[in-house]
Amino acid sequence: MEDKYAPISKLLLALEKTGKKYDVEKIKKAYLHAAEFHEGQFRQSGEPFVYHPIAVAEIVATLELDTDSICAALLHDTVEDCGDKVDVGAIRREYGEEVAMLVDGLTKLVQIPFEDKEDEHVENLRKMFLAMSKDIRVIFIKLCDRLHNMRTLSAKRPEKQRVTALETMYVYAPLAHRLGMQRIKQELENISLSYLDPIGYAQVKEDIEKRYGQSRDFIENARNSISEKLDDSKLKYSLEGRVKTVYSIYKKMFENNKSFEEIFDFYALRIIVETELECYTVLGIIHDMFNSVPGRFKDYISTPKPNMYRSLHTTVIGRDGIPFEVQIRTWEMHRIAEYGLAAHWKYKTGAESRAEIDQKLQWVSKLIDVEDETNDHDEFMHALKIDIFHDETFVFTPKGDVITLPQGSTVIDVAYAIHSAVGNKMVGAKINGMIVPIDRVPQNGEIVEILTSNASKGPSRDWLKIIKTGEARTKIRQWFKKEKQAENILVGRTEIDKEFKKFNRPYTEEQREEILSNVASRIGIQSVESLYNTIGYGGISMNKVASKLRDEFDRIVKPLVQEPVEVDIESLNKQATPRKTSKSGGVIIDGVDGCMVKFAKCCNPLPGDELIGFITKGYGVSVHKRDCPNVIANMKKAEYEGRWVSAYWEQGASLMGTSSQFFEAMLRIFAKDNIGLLAQITVALADMRVNLVSVSTQKRADGDIIINLTVNAKNLEHVNSIVSRLKSIDNIDDVTRGFGS
Ligand code: MN
Repeated sequence: MEDKYAPISKLLLALEKTGKKYDVEKIKKAYLHAAEFHEGQFRQSGEPFVYHPIAVAEIVATLELDTDSICAALLHDTVEDCGDKVDVGAIRREYGEEVAMLVDGLTKLVQIPFEDKEDEHVENLRKMFLAMSKDIRVIFIKLCDRLHNMRTLSAKRPEKQRVTALETMYVYAPLAHRLGMQRIKQELENISLSYLDPIGYAQVKEDIEKRYGQSRDFIENARNSISEKLDDSKLKYSLEGRVKTVYSIYKKMFENNKSFEEIFDFYALRIIVETELECYTVLGIIHDMFNSVPGRFKDYISTPKPNMYRSLHTTVIGRDGIPFEVQIRTWEMHRIAEYGLAAHWKYKTGAESRAEIDQKLQWVSKLIDVEDETNDHDEFMHALKIDIFHDETFVFTPKGDVITLPQGSTVIDVAYAIHSAVGNKMVGAKINGMIVPIDRVPQNGEIVEILTSNASKGPSRDWLKIIKTGEARTKIRQWFKKEKQAENILVGRTEIDKEFKKFNRPYTEEQREEILSNVASRIGIQSVESLYNTIGYGGISMNKVASKLRDEFDRIVKPLVQEPVEVDIESLNKQATPRKTSKSGGVIIDGVDGCMVKFAKCCNPLPGDELIGFITKGYGVSVHKRDCPNVIANMKKAEYEGRWVSAYWEQGASLMGTSSQFFEAMLRIFAKDNIGLLAQITVALADMRVNLVSVSTQKRADGDIIINLTVNAKNLEHVNSIVSRLKSIDNIDDVTRGFGS
C-alpha cells in the first residue's frame, strides 16, 4: 500500500533529526487536512498546491519552531484559498487556539495586496507588526512562506515577479534582518536581486566564481595555516570558509560606486568555538599570524548589533597582500546569527507551558510597544520601526507609549490618535516640554504632551484643514455632527448661498427649495435641513454638492440667453469661411458669433478630432467629437433639432507642439488584472512627460479590469502616440479614447 504520508516524509525526517519532541500525529493530521482542502488546486508551476505548504513547513522545521507552528505552516493557505471548506473556527476545534490564531494571523497578512502604493504598503506593515505583537511566530512562518514563494518565483508572470521581488527586497528582507534571521534574509535578497537586476546579478556571480577560482590557492593556504595554529592551541573549533553573497557584493559595488576588482573581502573565514573567552583567544592568534587592516576590527560580542547579532570581525592581510575577513563566534552566537529571534523558539515543543509562552509573548510585545525604557531591546525595536516604516512618524506620549502617524501629522492628529476625548478637549500641546503651535508637525522620537481642559469649547473647524489623518478627520466630524447641529446648518446654508450667487441669475424661493430638495434626494439625504447639516460638519464635500446644484439649477431656473439659433447642419458644413469667435479655445463655430465654447466632458475633443457643436441652454456651445456616442444618440432627436452646429479647430490648433494649450483626453484601458500595472502606466506617462489628471479602475465580471485615465494632451497626434505607447505594455489588451458615463 502506498504511504499516504510520503509527501511529508522529508518534513518528518527533518523534525526527527532536531531531536526535539514533536506531536507527529497532529502534524500528520494537519497535512491530511491541508491535502484535502487544497485538493484540485495547482500552483502556476503545475504541481499540486499542497506542495507549497509542505515546503513552507520544511523551512519552518529548520527554525525548529514548535508543533503548532508546523501545523500552522501546513494549514496557512487553507482559510485564504479554501474558505468554502474551512474557516478559523474549524481549525480552532481541530487544532486548538494557537494554531487557529497563527493561521488567522497569516490569513490576514495575505489579504492586504501590495500595489506599490504608499498607504497600502504602510498598512501592510502595520498589520504585520500587529500580528507579530500578538505572536511573533506569525512572522517567522510568513517569512518561510515568502522564502518558498521566492524560490518558486520563476513560475510566475514577469510582472508578478518584479512586484514580488521588490516587496521582498523592501519589506521582508529588512524584516528578516531586523529579526536577526540572516540565513533567510540573505536568500531573500539574493533571489530578489536575480529578478530585479538579472544582468547585474549574473555579472557579479560570474565575477565571484572567477575570482574564487583564481584565489583557491590563496584561500587554501590561509585556511591551512590557521588550522595548524588552532590545532596547536588545543581549542575545539570549527573552521569554515564562505564566499560572500552576490547581493552583499553587488550592494557594496553600487553603494560605494566600486568595480568588482575594488572589492577585496569577497571571502570570509568563520571560526566557531565553545566559549566567549575562546573567541578572544582565537582573535589573538589571528592577529599574531597576520597584519590586521586598521579600522576593520569590530567587537559585536561586547556590543551586539541591535538585531542581537554577536561575533568578532577582523580583516587581515594574507599572503600576497590579499585581505580577507575572519569572523569568530560561539555556537550559541552562530545559531542566533543564522536564525535570530527564531532561535529563541528552538527547543520549544507543544508541551511548552502556557505561562512560559505568554512570558515570551510579553517580551515580544514589549519590543513592539517600546514601553520599558530600560530594556535593551527597545533600541532594537525602535531601530526596526524607524528603519522599516520610513514614511511614518513615531512620537512618544509622556508615559512612553509610542504613537505611529503618517508623516506630516500634526499634534492634533496625535491627540486624536490617543483618544477622541483627548482631541475634543485639546487646548494646546507641548513637544519635549515646550509649548508649540497647534499645527506643529512633531518629528520622530519627540515626546508629545497634549494639554486638555474641560473648559475647552471643542475642536475648531479650521483643524480639518490642518490635520493629516483620516482618524482625526472622522472624529472631528463626529463631534460637530453631534454637538453643533445649529451651527452646522448655518455653515451649510452659507456654503449653499455662495454657490447660488455664482449662478448670477434670478430665482425664486420656491425654485430654491425645489432645487435643494432635488439635490438632497439625489445624494440620499432626507431633507434640505439635513443637507445643510451634512455640509456643515463636512460629511459631504461641497464639490460633490455643487455639480448637482448646477444641474438642478439649469433644469429648474429659466435661462436668460436667447432662444436656440436655428441652423441647418448640412448647409453649415458646406459653408466655406468659418467666422472666428472669441474665447473659443481654438474652436470656430459656424453660424454663431461671440458665444462661449466649452469642451464636452463626455468625449473631451482634441485638436485634430472632427467636431460638432451643440447649443446648450444658457451655456453657449458645447463642443463634442463628431463620433461621440452622445452625439450619435441625440443627433436625430426632435427636441434637439436645430441645436447642432458645425465646428472646426482653428488653424494651427492641430499642429503638434505649436499649441501651448493642453486638452484633457480620456483613455480607456482594457487589461488583465495585474497589481503592478498601474505603476507601469504611470511610469510610461511620466516618461512621455504626460500629466495624469485622474485615474480610476473598475473590475469586470471576468476578472479583468478597465482603467479610465484622463491625461493632458496637446492634440490628436499626441494622444495617438500615448495610446500606442500604452498598448505596448504587457497585460494591456486594448486602449481606446474613452467616453464618460
Ligand atoms: Mn503561502
